[in-house]
Parts: sequence; structure tokens; C-alpha cells
Amino acid sequence: MFGVRSNRHWAAGFLSVLFMFILLGVSGCALWPEVAYEKEEPAAPPSVRLSHDEVEPGGYLVITVDDVEDEHTIRLHPAGPVQFVRRGNSAVGLLGISAAAEPGEQSVGVEVRSGDRMLLFEHHSWEVKAREFPTQHLQTTPQMRETRRSELYEEDREHYRRAYAETSDGPLWEEDFLQPTEGRISTEFGVVRYVDGEISGRHSGLDIAAPTGTPVKATNRGIVRLAAHLNAPGKIVIVDHGMNVHSVYMHLSRISVKEGEMVERGEEIGEVGSTGFSTGPHLHWTMSIGRIPVCPDLILEQDPLQIVGDVLEEDMPR
Ligand SMILES: [Zn+2]
Repeated sequence: MFGVRSNRHWAAGFLSVLFMFILLGVSGCALWPEVAYEKEEPAAPPSVRLSHDEVEPGGYLVITVDDVEDEHTIRLHPAGPVQFVRRGNSAVGLLGISAAAEPGEQSVGVEVRSGDRMLLFEHHSWEVKAREFPTQHLQTTPQMRETRRSELYEEDREHYRRAYAETSDGPLWEEDFLQPTEGRISTEFGVVRYVDGEISGRHSGLDIAAPTGTPVKATNRGIVRLAAHLNAPGKIVIVDHGMNVHSVYMHLSRISVKEGEMVERGEEIGEVGSTGFSTGPHLHWTMSIGRIPVCPDLILEQDPLQIVGDVLEEDMPR
């Protein structure tokens, strides 16, 4: 449609506009910030879409905000630890859905601002599908009850909070996630647990039964945020994969990594054990998105970044 000549005109026009922007930008920073601001208005207003209309408890969604600029801020209501990562003109974030979510409609408010100016505020909803989780009954010994004292739990939670508060800016992983150790799955994700006849919550991960000393590998590339011996989880490692995705490994007999260390996918981080609140040697493995435990099988089946890629390709500007 456009000849070489009009392309050249367009290029010359573009360059002069660019030059004006540079002038405005440079002087604007020092003198008239509000004037420079007006000039940065995006061509298209931001818009929001979700990867799925329906999600199972323990699943997750990809939230995409299209036509955002670098200086725009995105906030969710209620506020959630969702890290938005820029990809081209879009920002993508992963939203974990609790295993305890009741079936029915759920929604989130998405706010996009440019400084003080509200560019968008919309509610987006999805349907939580019904999913039955099995129940499990555990009987404890006096020694195990000691590790479950509430003040000791509170101590543990303080360590989790510190570890989860840190997440790398953007995904650190490039390949799919792997199961950290081989063995029999002794407790599935989401199982409703009764301890000594009282409901004690949901199982936040997968239990993989294996002999003490079996190597435990990092499910994917990331930074070790916690490597410690705590009360209930025993020897525990938390790896931050970026984008608020964390993996947790509990009840280890040995830890072979240090906090702050980068681990590669498949690298040994410790060995299976039975430390902490545990009835026998096994690995408890949790995958969390935005501090919400999600079903590890889902993460093994499909790398979340593949879904992000699919979502972005659908509507990528040509
Ligand atoms: Zn477990």
C-alpha cells in the first residue's frame, strides 16, 4: 500500500516527532513534568483478559493486560502477590486459585494507573469448578504433638513469610518443571487432613515416599530463599523461580544448598528424610503461585510460561 516515497516521508516525520519528544522529555523532566506526562498517553487504552473462564481449585490463571506502557502501574483488588512481567506491549501475571476455593464465581478488580491518573478499573470473573478432594486421618505421638505447638508454627511462618516475600523480577526458568524425586505418591495435593480427629487443613503439596538419602532435585532453575531446619517442616528448602512462583521441599535429612544461591533445574538440593512433623521418610513438595499452593501435577503437565506464550500469541500486534 505504501510506496518507498511515503515510507521516507513517514520516517522523516517520525524522526522529527521523536526529536520533539526527546526535547520535551529532557526539558520536561526538569521543568514541566505534567506537560511531558500528557504526551506519553498510549495510542490504545489498556485492556485486560484472562487465560481461562473456568478453573479448578488448586489451579491458576494468566492475567494479561494489553497496551500498557513501562511507567503504568497495575494493581489488583483485592491486592494479591501477582508479579506482572512486561512482554512487548503487554504485562502478564500468574494468579493462583486456592484448593479451598468454593465452586462458583470468583473475580478480581484490575486497576491500571499512569501516575495519579486512573486509566482502567475493571472486574474480571471466572468460574471455580467443583472438585472433590479425598480426606486423610492421622494419629500423632506425643513427640509429634510437640512439633505442632502453635508458637512453634508461628516461628515457622515467620521464616516462610520472609522467604516468600522475595521473588526475582521475571521468570528465572526456561525449561519445563520436573518432579524433584522418584518414589510412590503417598499423599496427593489438596487432601483434607484430620489430625487426631480434628481438621487441620489441606495438604499443600505432593508427598513422595522414598528411602532416606534419596537425592532431591530442584524442580527448576531459581534462587534459594530459605535453607533451614524449622519445627514442623524439618529441614526445608524454598526456591524462588521468579514471577512469584516458589517450590518448597520439606522433611529433608540433609540440605546441600545455601540461601541466596542460584540452583539449576535438576541440581541436587538435599536428600529425602523424615525431619519435622513426619510419619516416615518422604519428600513433601509444594508448588506455590503468589503464595497460594497450586496442584504440582498441573505445573508438571504444562509449563506456565507455555500458557503465557499461547495467550500472547493469540493477540500479538502484527
Ligand atoms: Zn506432605
